[in-house]
Amino acid sequence: MSRETSFITKCIHVGNGVDKETGSIRRPITMANCYRLPEDASSINWSDPNQILYTRNTSANQLYLQQRLAALEGGEDCVVLASGVAALAGVFFTFLSNKSHVICSNVSYIAVYRLLNQYLPDKYGVEATLVDTSNLEEIKKAIRPNTKLIHVETPGNPTTKISDIAEISKIAKSIGALFSVDSTFASPYLQHPLELGADLVVHSLTKYINGHGDAMGGAVIGRKDLIDKIKSQAMVNLGGTISPFNAWLIMRGVVTLPLRMKQHSDTALKVAQYLESNPSVKFVAYPGLKSHPQHAIAKKQMKMYSGVIAFALKADGKTHNKFINSLELIVPAVSLGHDESLIVYTGPDDERINFYPEEFRDGYIRFSIGLESAEDIIYDLKQALEKCGL
Ligand SMILES: *Cc1c(COP(=O)(O)O)cnc(C)c1O
Repeated sequence: MSRETSFITKCIHVGNGVDKETGSIRRPITMANCYRLPEDASSINWSDPNQILYTRNTSANQLYLQQRLAALEGGEDCVVLASGVAALAGVFFTFLSNKSHVICSNVSYIAVYRLLNQYLPDKYGVEATLVDTSNLEEIKKAIRPNTKLIHVETPGNPTTKISDIAEISKIAKSIGALFSVDSTFASPYLQHPLELGADLVVHSLTKYINGHGDAMGGAVIGRKDLIDKIKSQAMVNLGGTISPFNAWLIMRGVVTLPLRMKQHSDTALKVAQYLESNPSVKFVAYPGLKSHPQHAIAKKQMKMYSGVIAFALKADGKTHNKFINSLELIVPAVSLGHDESLIVYTGPDDERINFYPEEFRDGYIRFSIGLESAEDIIYDLKQALEKCGL
């Protein structure tokens, strides 16, 4: 008899094992830059990214984490790097070259925006078109004969815009382009881009997958031939390798991913509904709300709606700052997907602001709902609004 284990079981068991030396039932952190060579090392490939020789090429803890993440996304293989941006840059470096064209979401992580809008075109001749990827017609219009990659972020940071993974994968296949999805906001618990036809899934492990705000990492998951290319080109030669300690911390964090994602999603929906009902609130963007423009697509491709909300108050920038600084529980800090709720106000000077929906353009708040109770979070919002006379 055999059956495939469930997602929640994989979070606990894949990549773990008994340590041969001590019998410990958890794999230890191996903090070593290099590993003892075999007696005859003459035939070794010194840059083999799948053999543990030298930690820039791969470490033991990195290999275990790669096994676990590949299993969670249902991919053949995974490469783990030092940050989400290292993973994204690894994809672009490996699959784009001089004169090749990429189509990317115009709402995307700031480093992606800068890499594709500025550095890769200016320095290396990559052609990039940034479009609203929630609109399939805009993607089709942007296609060129040399389009090699379509990259989308869904839900998008910071607006929570949703792009239709299954439909975009059909477009990518029809033109023979690769399709990569930054699924950081969803985590592997809420959305499976590979099943929906994507070639590569990218995560900032710094966020929900680690979940505890104490380690940075990034990952790309997909077919072995594609991941091998990223490993041998971008990992070994660009050097953005993860520390074994961070890989170990993330391995520990991911154990509780399903429990955390349920809690983040349940609480975020309650908080979003509270904000939407408050007359001092100008708008709320949360994919779980019926008012979200792509709610139907989110419902189709996500299990729940995760923990990030964007909103703004009917107030000026100064009042927004006062509101943020009046919070007593929710912490003003960047990042998201941590155990504690994090909040950040961005004024109208964000370089991407013109790509955002109209209501964001005077400034907006990005709010990452933590694992505290919904009642405590809502109480904190209420008392801070009251201090601002709202
Ligand atoms: C944070 C984030 C990244 C970058 O990840 P780092 O680990 O900070 O490098 C990429 N994409 C999304 C959607 C993010 O939220």
